[in-house]
Amino acid sequence: MSVFSAFATDIAIDLGTANTCVFARGRGIVLNEPSIVAFNTTNGQIEAVGTDAQNMLGRTPPNIRAVRPMKDGVIADFEAAEKMLMHFVRKAHGRRPLRRPRLIIGVPPEITQVERRAVKDSGFRVKASEVHLVDEPMAAAIGSGLPVTDPAGNMIVDIGGGTTDIAVISMAGTVYGRSLRVAGHALDEAITQYMRRTFNLLIGERTAEQIKCEIGSAAPLDEPLTMEVKGRHLTEGVPRTVHITDTEVREALAEPLRQIVQAVRDALERIPPELSADIYDRGVVLTGGGALLRNLDRRLRDETGLPVLVAENPLMSVVLGAGSILDDLSLLHKVTCN
Ligand code: ADP
Ligand code: MG
Repeated sequence: MSVFSAFATDIAIDLGTANTCVFARGRGIVLNEPSIVAFNTTNGQIEAVGTDAQNMLGRTPPNIRAVRPMKDGVIADFEAAEKMLMHFVRKAHGRRPLRRPRLIIGVPPEITQVERRAVKDSGFRVKASEVHLVDEPMAAAIGSGLPVTDPAGNMIVDIGGGTTDIAVISMAGTVYGRSLRVAGHALDEAITQYMRRTFNLLIGERTAEQIKCEIGSAAPLDEPLTMEVKGRHLTEGVPRTVHITDTEVREALAEPLRQIVQAVRDALERIPPELSADIYDRGVVLTGGGALLRNLDRRLRDETGLPVLVAENPLMSVVLGAGSILDDLSLLHKVTCN
């Protein structure tokens, strides 16, 4: 261990498609903001990052473009991703001097070797002394408290913004992994389309997400929920308010949810029998923001016959898992891929 690293603030980062979280060793979670960067297209400068950039979504003048650098589980805009990473690392540090921290970055499992290399290089450009990459599902499993080093199957389903990542982990390795490009954003999009089709109502991305979070569900609720939704009438062009129910939102979400459920069933069919026996005993752990959708656990339980648990802190599992690897060198070497 170098003299410096004893004083350094080691950092773990979850570069999610929807949200980026930063964990600082000894301080816990220090930052959680949307993964959005707003550029000025006239001069190429960054106008805003994170929450500030999100507030601009749908409200930007023509010369400002808000992008999500991590789209669909790939790095859609590398330059924006690097700028975002740098901005958040600096922000997390505040006024503390950057003392060449060790960095662990959670990355989508399906990014290419070239992208992995590029993410590492970005890490070194923010003056990290070491940069380690961990696949998000592995970090999520660790952060959800699964015994990933056991010689037994652990199944994690991480429903984020852009992708649903399904992984079966045994002995600190990924035995099965699949990334489906249907997750939170696809649910929002399904609500937008439903509102347009059913009510001729045009709603924004954030309204769709609010509907999902407030009254969305994957199986019938005990208590009905309703919500007032404001949008623009498509043909009349004027603001309109409609009332929608949880039943209508379930109908809107039916197709993307069916695909997510089907992907979990496919995974169960494809893994070796010993591991599926483990999963039948231990159950499936749901994480990522999508795990918060009402009754998704019940729906998966009904359709798979397996025990299904929601992680304690679904939005933070990846960063907490990556953060805990900072304290465990042997685990770090087992689960990080370089
Ligand atoms: P990522 O890892 O891709 O950044 P997150 O794990 O942070 O994604 O999850 C973000 C997604 O979770 C978003 O699509 C968001 O709408 C969704 N989400 C957050 N809270 C809820 C909720 N209560 N119900 C349903 N979806 C939710
Ligand atoms: Mg995630």
